[in-house]
Amino acid sequence: MPAAVAVPWAGWSLRPRREAARIVDAACVRLWLTEVAARLAAERDFLTQLDAAIGDADHGVNMHRGFTAVMTRVGAAEEATAGQLLKLAGRTFVSTVGGAAGPLYGTAFLQAGEALGDGDRFGPKLLLDAMRASLEGVQRVGAASPGDKTMVDALAPALRAYELELRMGGSLETAVSGAREAAAEGMRATIPLQARKGRASYLGPRSVGHQDPGATSTALMFAALEQAVLTDRSQRFAGGARRRVSGP
Ligand code: ADP
Ligand code: MG
Repeated sequence: MPAAVAVPWAGWSLRPRREAARIVDAACVRLWLTEVAARLAAERDFLTQLDAAIGDADHGVNMHRGFTAVMTRVGAAEEATAGQLLKLAGRTFVSTVGGAAGPLYGTAFLQAGEALGDGDRFGPKLLLDAMRASLEGVQRVGAASPGDKTMVDALAPALRAYELELRMGGSLETAVSGAREAAAEGMRATIPLQARKGRASYLGPRSVGHQDPGATSTALMFAALEQAVLTDRSQRFAGGARRRVSGP
């Protein structure tokens, strides 16, 4: 075939790159957890301030403590698959974080890890299954519906946006970007809501006018996911370029 002869490198140089952009693996999940941990450290006081207004001023401290423990254990689990990493994060969260967020996020991570199974690599569709499993887990444990002013108000729209983008033929990158945007919008949309679940619900109408801390930490996790996917992709591309240069 003349075209193949004219550009003999095209077949193998382009295909792995496109493929690399599509997949997620344990390295990408590690990047994500690391990014979440860094952002939680930076936003700890802000999250705690949000919780001071409608809760008991511990959300930032809880999340930061939980993720510090997660990173220690994840760092030691060198051979773990993506699913195993998420399950480890979930178990660590349940055992180190009290309050509402510990069991809720712990279940979300555990369920996501279960949904990923034991494979080394997975595509955007399995990530959707993992997000769906997380939401189901959070709603099974906390019984919150959208509009109750909880983390569900960021998680549910993020999942919807991610799914929609995939259905419309989008890539993993555009899907996580859509999810990040929808989570942030859902987070902001909690401000005028009256809380119907969790500690903030004790305040009744006085919970109106404040952003929900849990929806805020969930939006932070989706921002970190987009960042991790983009960083992972650029590292893969750099790796591909290095392989080409040093190859035979
Ligand atoms: P606590 O309320 O026990 O002090 P945190 O302050 O760590 O726990 O977490 C508070 C966040 O947890 C809230 O902002 C809300 O988003 C989330 N939350 C509370 N109850 C529920 C629930 N039943 N379902 C989903 N999320 C909830
Ligand atoms: Mg609290």
